[in-house]
Amino acid sequence: MTKPATPATETDHKPSNFLRQIIENDLDKGTYASRRWAGSPGDAAHHASGQPDPAKIRTRFPPEPNGYLHVGHAKSICINFGLAKEYGGVCHLRFDDTNPEKEDTEYVNSIIDAVKWLGFSWSQPGNEKAYQASDYFDFMYRAAEALIEAGHAYVDEQTAEEMRTNRGDFGKPGVDSPFRSRTPAENLARFREMRDANLGDGAAVLRAKIDMASPNINMRDPAIYRIRRATHHHTGDTWCIYPMYTFAHPIEDALEQITHSICTLEFEDQRPFYEWLMERLCECKLLAAPSPKQYEFARLNLTYVITSKRKLAQLVAEGKVNGWDDPRMPTIVGLRRRGYTAESLRLFADRIGVTKSDSWIDYSTLEGCLREDLEKKAHRGMAVLNPVKLVLTNWDTVFSPGHLEACSQPALPHSDDNTVVPERHFSLGKEVWIEREDYEDVPTKGYKRLFPGNKVRLKGGYVIECTVAHRDASGTITKVLATLIPDTKSGTPGSNSVKASAAITWVGVADGVQAEVRMYDRLFLDPQPDAGGKDFLESINPDSLKVITAFVEPSLANAAADQKFQFERHGYFVADRLDHVAGSKPVFNFAVGLKDSWGK
Ligand code: ATP
Ligand code: MG
Repeated sequence: MTKPATPATETDHKPSNFLRQIIENDLDKGTYASRRWAGSPGDAAHHASGQPDPAKIRTRFPPEPNGYLHVGHAKSICINFGLAKEYGGVCHLRFDDTNPEKEDTEYVNSIIDAVKWLGFSWSQPGNEKAYQASDYFDFMYRAAEALIEAGHAYVDEQTAEEMRTNRGDFGKPGVDSPFRSRTPAENLARFREMRDANLGDGAAVLRAKIDMASPNINMRDPAIYRIRRATHHHTGDTWCIYPMYTFAHPIEDALEQITHSICTLEFEDQRPFYEWLMERLCECKLLAAPSPKQYEFARLNLTYVITSKRKLAQLVAEGKVNGWDDPRMPTIVGLRRRGYTAESLRLFADRIGVTKSDSWIDYSTLEGCLREDLEKKAHRGMAVLNPVKLVLTNWDTVFSPGHLEACSQPALPHSDDNTVVPERHFSLGKEVWIEREDYEDVPTKGYKRLFPGNKVRLKGGYVIECTVAHRDASGTITKVLATLIPDTKSGTPGSNSVKASAAITWVGVADGVQAEVRMYDRLFLDPQPDAGGKDFLESINPDSLKVITAFVEPSLANAAADQKFQFERHGYFVADRLDHVAGSKPVFNFAVGLKDSWGK
């Protein structure tokens, strides 16, 4: 087996998969070694003028810029860019904009951002730009005429209904169109009339002439050009005929000298046409062999998640979420705002691997990757999410009234190298915020936190002994009282002489800062919200967002936007990229819980 030409450290020791095997085999045999690259996409003559291609392989990621990318696209990006990087190749970013539908530059820009943010690059010396399929319209038209001249395509003027009926079905061969026997000259003239807007929308289509009896319905003379009077965002009104996706896509790959065209399984039945078209266009000398080859892998299906741009757009349009970047959305911008890191998504893509059969990935796999990444990186901090006040009644006698005791704790507990562990500083005073659930009048079995007579440690501070709790008329606890035990401060000699049954998290009333915390839960209650034609709107979780007011320690309040933290015992949170203002208006999003829930 050929060794990867430029192994990237991150991709070392990755398990093999069928795509890797195909690529390694091609590199071994030199399948694509004779290719030339002219520095930009083009036809056979263009590339013949170029140098031997310095890229060992070429892959591509070809999104249609009609929405924001989601976690499924992240998988595809990691596969295509990852394989190119690993095997000394190049991956092209190509906007598949052959459909003259309104494209938004907002989508184009968001796709560029997403690919860069995931840590990948398509730029090569002398070529920083992403490609766009609409640049190839002239060539596609030329290819269509070449097919017509060689007798491989004809203009069909049956009605849409007639075409559908005559296509047949799985059990029934198709019936030839009465227009199928037109001569190349007739077809050429008619196709030019299509192009020149002499025919109405839908009045005719250009079809490849293959085999109306093929067991593969995609080979029963598929349509390759249609009339559509629509203004295209790049080519304006130059064209009133547009290529069909199945015709355009192989050509885009070929002009870009793609070697391995990797797509999802639903395109498997299109592969014979992809190959047929490549062969015909090589015969016509428009394209040079070796042609790109198509390979299919299983798309990502993730439980509790929808991966269809159309349906995600519906969630946004109907206000079910607050935009494409809502932290509940499986879009890359949504995941990012939720606290997902590029590393965690790349780890996820590696972990789920590449297979040839469809399956569902459990959402916990995605969460596990984030947890694993943040465990090493996220600074720790204390936050009280459901606060009740704790008063240390002997404070003024142990210290002086108004005294604040400076405390510190490591921001990263598990740092095992020699780097200096960053510290966080906060202060303990007479009053602190604790979690409401950290007090019980009468402890339930195994309960080790505050109850009258019990001793616990205020984490990073002193051991205290609980005395009593005060309640209002409705029975709600208004404050918990305790006494501080002197000489037990964490990290001081003899601090462990008094045994505490638990350490509880807290935030000082004096230096704690109020923060908005957005507690997110899954957006759907059904693990397969849209499977089998189900209406995904019916399983929307009404409680997917709860906004609470918490108290956080100063190091958290002063966080930079997008900084991730572990709120001790609660899980991982991120300072919201858009709404968080350090110091004055902290806003955090819940990212993912801790593996083990905080012990009693
Ligand atoms: P959608 O149905 O959400 O619009 P799409 O497949 O039409 O998705 P494109 O923009 O055409 O979206 O896709 C760009 C690339 O991303 C394609 O190569 C496609 O195969 C891949 N892709 C899309 N969804 C997934 C998924 N769930 N898992 C893996 N790859 C995907
Ligand atoms: Mg699509």
